[in-house]
Amino acid sequence: ITTAHLNMKTFILKSGDKMPAVGIGCWKSAKGEATNSVLSALEVGYRLVDSAAVYGNEVEVGSAISQTLKKGLKRSDLWVTSKLWNTCHQSADVEAACRKTISDLQCSYLDLYLVHWPIAQDKRGAIIDVPMKETWSAMESLVSKGLVHNIGVSNFTVTKLKSLLSFCKIPPAVNQVEVTPLLQQRPLREFCASQGIHVTAYSSLGSNDSPFRGSFPNLLANPVITDIAQKNRITAAQVLLAWALGEGISVIPKSVHKERLIENLKSAEITLDGDSLQQIAAMDSHLRSCDGLLFWKNMPGYTLEKFWDDE
Ligand code: NAP
Repeated sequence: ITTAHLNMKTFILKSGDKMPAVGIGCWKSAKGEATNSVLSALEVGYRLVDSAAVYGNEVEVGSAISQTLKKGLKRSDLWVTSKLWNTCHQSADVEAACRKTISDLQCSYLDLYLVHWPIAQDKRGAIIDVPMKETWSAMESLVSKGLVHNIGVSNFTVTKLKSLLSFCKIPPAVNQVEVTPLLQQRPLREFCASQGIHVTAYSSLGSNDSPFRGSFPNLLANPVITDIAQKNRITAAQVLLAWALGEGISVIPKSVHKERLIENLKSAEITLDGDSLQQIAAMDSHLRSCDGLLFWKNMPGYTLEKFWDDE
């Protein structure tokens, strides 16, 4: 087990917990690949695993966590994030979902548990009305029971965060959202900063293997990004990750290839110069690779804009 994590860049959450700045994403890692990719990630120095029940591979991810803990990594040196799926928002379902995830991941507790999307669905997928107050109160109970150390949200807009902050007892520690040069989310990030909510970026590399990306362009082949990469003798993936990290955002790139895992982790050692940052700032175009279409197409009267509260 490498000790590289001792130098790992971290961000401090409201609770005082230090969350690693770079983690491995697990969405779309096939069952046959997930164990090996998480094993490789932990072997090369990753200390954060970003999982979710809906990814369908928590047992495989858990096998890698368990094997690594048996090799001598301390549980307290590992950060495990997972997410509550939309079909488990009712208060009676939240704790069972969390316990199942902890059991599948073989990790005793979660460092961070997120409400995956701000919408509830029934078991057949239909959108249902479960007040966030009910879901969040059940999330808060998980903290008092010691099942999770921090709670947070994902895919929340400023509007939805303001609503949550109006009734919560424990404010969200993290909002995990899509952030890339094409979707820089500055107003949302400024609001989060003002409330002490840390932002984690998902799909930082443009999620080229996503089944939902529609016509979202190949970010890794964007000429501004590849030019900056060439000039600095780094890769396009490293430009994208170093940019986010430099903005104070943690990242969770997904890869099932060891050499890419190493490449992505090394982005934490890279600082982009002012010219490169200016060029990237000019790329903002409010384009989402993960726009929630699957959900809002089943919500009568909803459009992309309404789903994201016109933000
Ligand atoms: P991503 O990390 O932006 O991109 C993953 C794709 O990039 C894969 O095709 C991967 O291929 C490839 N890749 C990785 N490193 C590379 C490199 N150095 N050079 C070239 N290609 C590289 O996409 P993502 O999986 O959508 O996002 C990351 C994680 O964020 C997810 O896995 C998940 O944990 C989380 N997420 C959360 C939400 C949410 O709603 N909260 C939504 C989306 C994602 P290989 O695997 O073949 O290397």
